[in-house]
Amino acid sequence: MRAWEKHVRKVVPYVPGEQPKHRNIIKLNTNENPYPPAPGVTEALKAMDGELLRRYPDPAAEVLVKSLAGRYGLSPEQVFVGVGSDDVLAMCFLTFFNSGRPILFPDITYSFYDVWAEVFRIPYECQPLNEAFEIVKEDYYKANGGVIFPNPNAPTGMCQSLEDVEDIIAHNQDVVVIVDEAYIDFGGRSALELIDRYDNLLVVQTFSKSRSLAGLRVGYAMGNKTLIKYLNDVKYSFNSYTMNAPTLAAAAAAVEDEAYFQETTGKIIRTRERVKEELRELGFRFGDSKSNFLFITHPELAARELFEALKIKKIYVRYFNKPRIDNYLRVTIGTDEEMDVFLDFLRRYLKQNL
Ligand code: PMP
Repeated sequence: MRAWEKHVRKVVPYVPGEQPKHRNIIKLNTNENPYPPAPGVTEALKAMDGELLRRYPDPAAEVLVKSLAGRYGLSPEQVFVGVGSDDVLAMCFLTFFNSGRPILFPDITYSFYDVWAEVFRIPYECQPLNEAFEIVKEDYYKANGGVIFPNPNAPTGMCQSLEDVEDIIAHNQDVVVIVDEAYIDFGGRSALELIDRYDNLLVVQTFSKSRSLAGLRVGYAMGNKTLIKYLNDVKYSFNSYTMNAPTLAAAAAAVEDEAYFQETTGKIIRTRERVKEELRELGFRFGDSKSNFLFITHPELAARELFEALKIKKIYVRYFNKPRIDNYLRVTIGTDEEMDVFLDFLRRYLKQNL
């Protein structure tokens, strides 16, 4: 090792789901939305002219912050926006988790949390989910340097009740509690209604799932003005222009089209519930997902083999080779047609393999 290499910040990076270049696949592996974004989004992008691109974008991202504030009944000072919720969450880790005490999150959860903790040198302790893959709220009663969990959780899809979420926040009022609501628009109840009562609560959401804009990269945090100011101070200390001009205009257009949002999220929820019924008939087991994916297992099948067999047929799902979940597949809810192809494949596979 060369001398300078000793002082490199070494990390094991997060591994995102595969993004194959070819288009003729059924892509159920990264929880993208199968429907296009609201029509106003592409119109806003087409309307971008050279003059807007010549200038720096608005560092305060006002057009987007204001439209989100309007949508959620908040003041603009209560909203922070970033380059996907990954950017927002990374900024939160850097801003709020500095006590030197371990932060707490579930053992089975979004696999970026331990990566951020490692890269920022934040100690952490994972709390095991119970057998039903639910968070055990009492595990979060101990002293800690902060708490983060997704609700619904990923990759399980399990949603904690608002009472449980509030209980965890109430027991941790001396630290910042982050509820990562990447999948909340598919049937869960948001913790947003608690932000006026708990000044230590941050709710983080994204445009990647329910607003069909994973490619645009937009996420946001909502909380009290003081939390948001601290986040902005850190952001301005490292890049004033995280949000580019086309993204600001397109994302604001997405927020304005509430009817389209309701229609597409509603369709995904209906498809999810139908697929649950059909998978149950085929002998699969899974929790009551309130997200845009299902986390499935079959007592008589090896998940890894099924994953490989699906891939050969150009149906991509996600397999995690990790303790406790290595016989599960995470399957994003696609269109009804895509899910029918997936289910037909499973029927044939089961006939051949059982
Ligand atoms: N949180 C959770 C729980 C997720 O599953 C994801 C998606 N990978 C994200 C945050 C980040 O999503 P994005 O950066 O696209 O907003």
